[in-house]
Amino acid sequence: MANNYFGSRTRERSNSKGRTGNTYIDKNDGYPKFKDSNKPVHRWVAEKKLNRKLKAGEVVHHKNRNKLDNSPSNLAIFSSQKKHWEVHKQDAKKHGWKYSMIGKKTK
Ligand SMILES: [Zn+2]
Repeated sequence: MANNYFGSRTRERSNSKGRTGNTYIDKNDGYPKFKDSNKPVHRWVAEKKLNRKLKAGEVVHHKNRNKLDNSPSNLAIFSSQKKHWEVHKQDAKKHGWKYSMIGKKTK
C-alpha cells in the first residue's frame, strides 16, 4: 500500500495550487519546497517530466512566470542560468521586471 500513499500525495501536489501539507513556501526565494527534503517542487516535477535527474547548472523555468504553478506543462528546462536569464531579460524589456518575475504587468 506504500505505492498508493505515494500516488495520492503526488496527485495532491500537482493539482493543488495552494498549500498541500507536505510543502511550504521558502521565504527566501518564494519557491514551494518539500518539507522533508527542502527540495524545490518545480525541480522535482521537472525531473519527473524529463524522467531523469537534473544536471548541475540546469535551470527550471516557469513559463507563465508563476512560481507556484508547478504543473509539468508550465515548466521549461534550460541548460544554463545564462540562457534562462535571456528569457527574463526579454520579458523585462517588453513588460517590465514585475512581469518577468511574477507574471504580472507593472501598472
Ligand atoms: Zn524563469
